[in-house]
Amino acid sequence: MSKTIILSNRLPVQLRISEGRIEAIPSVGGLATGMKSVHQDGESLWIGWSGLTREETPGDLEGDIDKALAGHGCLKVSLSREEVDGFYFGFSNRTLWPLFHYFMEYSEFELANWEVYEAVNRKFADAVVEEAGEEDVVWVHDYQLLLVPEMVRQQRPGLSIGFFLHIPFPSFEIFRTLPWRKEILRGLLGADLIGFHTYDYERHFLSSVRRLLGLEVNFNEIHLEGRVAKVDSFPMGIDYKKFREAALRHAAMEEGEESDLQRRLNLHKASTPEAKFFLSIDRLDYTKGIAKRLKAFEYFLQKYPHYREKVRLIILAVPSRSKVPQYRRLKKEIDELVGRINGELSTVSWTPIWYFYRSLEFENLIDLYTSCDIAWLTPIRDGMNLVAKEYIATRTDQSGVLILSEMAGAANELHEALLINPNNFEQIAQALDQAINMPPEEQAARNAPMQKRLERYDVEKWAQDFMDSLLAQKKQDAPYV
Ligand code: UDP
Repeated sequence: MSKTIILSNRLPVQLRISEGRIEAIPSVGGLATGMKSVHQDGESLWIGWSGLTREETPGDLEGDIDKALAGHGCLKVSLSREEVDGFYFGFSNRTLWPLFHYFMEYSEFELANWEVYEAVNRKFADAVVEEAGEEDVVWVHDYQLLLVPEMVRQQRPGLSIGFFLHIPFPSFEIFRTLPWRKEILRGLLGADLIGFHTYDYERHFLSSVRRLLGLEVNFNEIHLEGRVAKVDSFPMGIDYKKFREAALRHAAMEEGEESDLQRRLNLHKASTPEAKFFLSIDRLDYTKGIAKRLKAFEYFLQKYPHYREKVRLIILAVPSRSKVPQYRRLKKEIDELVGRINGELSTVSWTPIWYFYRSLEFENLIDLYTSCDIAWLTPIRDGMNLVAKEYIATRTDQSGVLILSEMAGAANELHEALLINPNNFEQIAQALDQAINMPPEEQAARNAPMQKRLERYDVEKWAQDFMDSLLAQKKQDAPYV
């Protein structure tokens, strides 16, 4: 029987070691959920890094760790601290991440990091080669593993290999600045199917393939020696049912059952029933435009002073990659901006910005999604933005307004949202004004079609679609003449 081998930088389980006992706890992230239907016991294997470096792994527990992971259909790739630094914090997060999000000035081109990236990609590829049977299907995920498809293909030409990129693919003019641009394209072209969130990313990739490698591109197919690689878009969805049901449970809660956070939110709502809550949730990342959003909020309150004391911005910034200097600098900038704006505009009874720097439990996320009148998400560049989709899914009474950056991949599917350019403060201020005054009927008329779309194309459907397309591609993959 053939199996599916899934590859991602991190395994979908968290290891916890205490007093010599090991626990592998399944993660609840989007990818782990989406792959559930693909990653079934016995028929699939997930290969990735466990999150613990070799130095952090007690030698005598190695066997137990492998056993605990195997219990979840997982196999670890062992990485040293030096490898994680060069491959993950280095090349992945200081070269590829900024460049692919159009932050060219942040992108570092360090040969040493590239070499570690290559070596670690080889480790992942070798693990696949070791484990894969002739009929197996391999699905490689994301920008940390761009070279793996070709590395596997060279050793196992007959395998069916798919790749999905979870971040944007930049335009040729940006991509061409990368010293290892050809290696990366060739790495990806080892796959039979290369998937992106949007048609634009797909187009950018094809244009780079044509211009940098001079290969023949026919619509969305690239003709290689003896085979065809197909490129397509698969916009990733969410676990719609999970968010919807959590929101319904939340709405049915009796008094006294709610969380502390919800109680606090209720108190504030009761004291100022007319006031509107704006919500912004992101990882603390420069691509998310948090600092710009704070400045836009200040601009909005200066332009429309009558909204002072009538609106409140809740910012949840989830700690991320704090080992990378730009992230530390951004944290400082946001701290200072929140302090300055609150200092400037607060009154005895009103603090305009509530700022949380932490990650929240799922139930608290639902508290925020369901309690806030307006979700205001303005990334400067974002592969997809699942938070936007989650907010819409939780609005079970169809109230609520989504203001979304047109630079987020999700904007392609959520056209009924108020789409804005995150650099245009004037437009943002108008959108906030429009959102505050939007009649409930219009809110429902915008949210209903978005909910339908999100329900139909959920994360499970996304994974299934990709797999179906990969298997179909393999079947028709006759040698090119
Ligand atoms: N999220 C979370 N805990 C939090 C805040 C957010 O688990 O405290 C989740 C959120 O539900 C969403 C994900 O983090 O599924 C963020 O995904 P998105 O695509 O918006 O951005 P990314 O962080 O992947 O760039």
